[in-house]
Amino acid sequence: MAEFSLELPEDVVEVRDWVHGFADEVIRPVAHEWDEKEETPWPVLEEAAKIGLYSAESFATWFLEPSGLMMPVVSEELFWGDAGIGLALMGTGLGVAAIAGNGTPEQVATWIPECFGTPGDIKLSAFCVTEPNAGSDVSNLRTKAVKDGDDWVLNGQKVFATNGGIADVHVIVASVDPELGSRGQASFVIPPGTPGLTAGKKEKKHGIRASHTGEVLLDDCRVPAECLLGGDEKLEARMARAREGKKTGTQAAMSTFEATRPIVAAQAVGIARAAFEFALDYAKEREAFGKPIIMNQSIAFTLADMKMELDCARLLVWRASWMGRARASPR
Ligand SMILES: Cc1cc2nc3c(=O)[nH]c(=O)nc-3n(C[C@H](O)[C@H](O)[C@H](O)COP(=O)(O)OP(=O)(O)OC[C@H]3O[C@@H](n4cnc5c(N)ncnc54)[C@H](O)[C@@H]3O)c2cc1C
Repeated sequence: MAEFSLELPEDVVEVRDWVHGFADEVIRPVAHEWDEKEETPWPVLEEAAKIGLYSAESFATWFLEPSGLMMPVVSEELFWGDAGIGLALMGTGLGVAAIAGNGTPEQVATWIPECFGTPGDIKLSAFCVTEPNAGSDVSNLRTKAVKDGDDWVLNGQKVFATNGGIADVHVIVASVDPELGSRGQASFVIPPGTPGLTAGKKEKKHGIRASHTGEVLLDDCRVPAECLLGGDEKLEARMARAREGKKTGTQAAMSTFEATRPIVAAQAVGIARAAFEFALDYAKEREAFGKPIIMNQSIAFTLADMKMELDCARLLVWRASWMGRARASPR
C-alpha cells in the first residue's frame, strides 16, 4: 500500500510553478486592460499556445495525471492571475472534457485538436448545457435533438455558455427522449460553420469579464450521425435500459460535470488566494493612527481566518478532485 502523503507529486509542483510564472508575468500585467475591454484576450491565448500551455497535449496530460490534482492546481494558479483570462484559457477544457468523457476514440482524435488549433491559428470550444429554465436542474433541458435519416437536427436555446457562439467547436447537450429526463440526453459536436447554430446575446458580467459568456441559438441545426458523442448504438442501449427501469451508468451532462466541477472550485480558490494576498499587502502598507492597520488585532485575526478558510477550501477541492480521479466515494 502506498505511503500516505499530502505532498504534491513532483511533476505537479513543476507544472504549478511554470503556470504561476505565466500568471505572474503574462496574465497579471494585462488583466485590468482585458477586464475593461470585456473581450477574449487573444494575444494571451497566443502566448499560452506558443509555450504549450494552451494545447491539446497539455490538457490531456493534466487531465490524465494519476493523482487528479494537476487540473485544480493549474486552475488555481491561472485564476490567481486573473479570473477572466483564466477562464478564457480554461473554457475550451469544458468542451474537451465532454468529448473525452463521452466520445469514441475516433471522435476524441478528430475533435480535440480542433478545439485548440495551433499557435497562430487559435481555436476555442464551448460546452453548452445551461438553458433559461435549466441551470442546476440539468434534467429539465428543452433543447431537442431529433433523428432525421442519418442526421440529427437540433433546436433550442442555450445560455451562459463560455465561448458560446464564438467557439469553433460547440458541444451541445440535448434531449433525445424528454420522458427519460437526464437519462434521455446526449451530447453532440457541432462542427465549425454548421448552419443553424448562431450566437445570441453576449452577457455583460460583473466579473470574469475577459471570458466571453453568451447565448447559443439552434434553429434546425443539422449534423451528421458521427457528431453524436459515443455513437447511436450506445445511446440506444442506454435509453432502452432506462425505459426498462434499469441503471444506465453515466449521463451526458453529469459525467462532464463530475470531471470539471472540482476544477471550477479550484478556480474560486485561486481568486480567493489573490484577494487574500491583496488584502494582506494593503493591511501591512496602510497606516492609520500612526501604525499599519495589520497591527490591530481585529484586522490580523480577520486575515488569519481568511488564510485558514483558504487552506480548508483547497484541501476540500483536492479531496474532491482525487475522488473524481480515483472514483472513490465519500464516507
Ligand atoms: C461565468 C459563467 C460561465 C458559465 N459557463 C457555462 C458553460 O460554459 N456552459 C454551461 O452550460 N453553463 C455555463 N454557465 C452556467 C452555469 O453552469 C449555471 O449558472 C449553473 O449551472 C447554475 O444554474 P443557474 O444559474 O440557472 O442557477 P439555478 O439553477 O437557478 O440556481 C439558483 C440558486 O439556487 C440554488 N439551488 C438550485 N437548486 C437547488 C437545490 N435543489 N437545493 C438547494 N439549492 C438549490 C443554486 O445553488 C443557486 O444558488 C456559466 C455561468 C457563469 C456565471
